[in-house]
Order: sequence, then C-alpha cells, then structure tokens
Amino acid sequence: MQTTFKFVLGASAIVAAFGASAQTFPAAGKTITIVVPFTAGGPTDRVARDLAEALRKPLGGATIVVDNTAGAGSSIGAAKVARAAPDGYTLLLNHIGMATIPSLYRKLPFNVENDFEYLGIINDVPMTLIGKPSLPASNYKELTTWINANKGNINLANAGLGSASHLCGLMFQSAIKTEMTAVPYKGAAPAIADLMGNQVDLLCDQTTNTTGQIEAKKVKAFAVTTPKRLSTPALKNLPTLQELGLANFQVTIWHGLYAPKGTPEAVVKTLNDALKVALKDPDFIKREEALGAVIASDKRVEPAEHKKFVQAEIAKWGAVIKAAGTYAD
Ligand code: ASP
Repeated sequence: MQTTFKFVLGASAIVAAFGASAQTFPAAGKTITIVVPFTAGGPTDRVARDLAEALRKPLGGATIVVDNTAGAGSSIGAAKVARAAPDGYTLLLNHIGMATIPSLYRKLPFNVENDFEYLGIINDVPMTLIGKPSLPASNYKELTTWINANKGNINLANAGLGSASHLCGLMFQSAIKTEMTAVPYKGAAPAIADLMGNQVDLLCDQTTNTTGQIEAKKVKAFAVTTPKRLSTPALKNLPTLQELGLANFQVTIWHGLYAPKGTPEAVVKTLNDALKVALKDPDFIKREEALGAVIASDKRVEPAEHKKFVQAEIAKWGAVIKAAGTYAD
C-alpha cells in the first residue's frame, strides 16, 4: 500500500516536472544558445545575432547567446546541436547548407531529416559575385576578359565544402565553363577579409555580408544571383547573372532554425511562436531588409512546411551536386 502510494506520488511528480519544464520554458536564469556553424562576423552569424535580439522579448527576456562552431561547411556545428540535450536551450541556425551537406559529405555524423525538430524558415538572402579590390575589372564584361586571360590561375574563396559560397562558386564555374582553384575558409568573414586584402580573387556570398563592403568600395561587385535586380539602394545597379547571359542562374540562400530531435512538443511550440513574433519585429525587419534579406512568409515559419521545404531542397541540390561530382569524406 505504502509502495503504491509512493509510486503514485512519484508518477505525478514526474508529470508535474515535465509539465512545468515545458510550461516555464525558458526557465528564469537559463541561457539559450544559438549555434552558428560558421565564423563570427559573416552572413549566417549576422542573421543569428539579429534574430537573437528579436527573440529575446517573445521568450520572456531570456538571455540568448550565439556560439560559432565553424567548419566543414556547417556540418560540425550542426552535429553539435544534433547531439545536444533536447531541451530547447541549444538551437541551430543554419542556411542552405542543411540541404547541401547530405549530398556533399559521404559520412555525415547526423541525419538532417531525422535528427532535428524544425522550428521555421527565417529569411531568404540573395548572393553577389564580388572580386578583390586590385582586380583590373570594374564590370562583368571586364571580369570575363580577365577570367579568360587568367584561366588556370584564379582563386575562388568559399566558406567550406557545402557552404553557400561553395555552391554558388560551383554553379558559376559550370556556367562559364571555367575551373578555378577553391580556397575554403571556416566562414565567409575570413573569406571576405582575404578578398579585401587581395589574397584571393573572387567570392560569391550573401548580401548580408557583402552589402557594407560593396557600399564602402572595399570589394568590386559584378552581379547578383537573383532572377530580378535587387531594390536595396547599395545593390540596385548590379545586373543579374541571368541578364549577363548565364541562363537560369539563380541561387538564393535561406536560413532556418532547428532544435535537437526529441525536444518536447510544448517547447517546440514556444520556440516556433517566438520565432513568428521575432520575424515581425520592425527593427529586425529593417536591419535585414537594409542588407537585401527578405523575411519568410508566415506559411514558411511552420515546422511542417520548413521540413517539407528542406526535403525538397535536399533533392534539388543533390542532383546539382551529383552532376558536379564533388564529395568529401
Ligand atoms: N555565407 C557563408 C557561406 O558561404 C557562411 C557564413 O555565414 O559565414 O555559406
């Protein structure tokens, strides 16, 4: 009898504890960490830091920090979150890499589709083709002349195998039928720093990283990767690669938020609700739009839509990557 009583008490205590942790998420004094799988100061980091600020209020004033766990085209940071405690306090903010790494890495230590809770798409960010300041070319036509004169001797920086810049670089080389030497970094911040220092020749990167440098004339800008020209003041005069003759050239980088698989449903809902509020924050919208980013529509912030979208992207980019024949072990 006593044992039964104890058991009943124990069971209700467990239920209460689980219920409380979901209801009180985030608990007072607990820090939420957003893992960014690239270096600090780059475009993914920029989105994460803006978002962390916008998420604070809807998450009851919680402290939200960004942890840059960079390397291997985002797979090291993503693996860290896949293995983290599924309690909502460790999140991943990743970009299109979530859809390219399953095809690029033969041995990925996690499964993109099965090891995460999907919390919603955040935004879409166009890319720009930029060059080092000493490049003797000021427009795309002059760039192609320079490329043709320097074949076999051109360095194209990227943020690692599976990164957005890697993908854009692959597409560009295939579109102009010219191979370049890939120079991988752990993020676009060191890549653009070396570009500005004339250590590498070219980089294709998100406008969230390149807009300020283009405006300050610290890099040469040649084109955007969207089908239409952008309206962002600093970028609106840049032609699209399509209008420059690269038929169907189109790549836009989306970002999404993830939690480890097994995070309680109520915590996932709290995080998803907070994300929806954050994406309507006027300061967040203003900061992102000034850098050419487009905030995701309400529908795409739904976890099921997010997952469906990533699955479609895995199939889409898997075909491109297979055709390019690029792999890492
Ligand atoms: N934009 C980079 C890329 O090429 C990554 C970063 O955010 O640093 O994927």
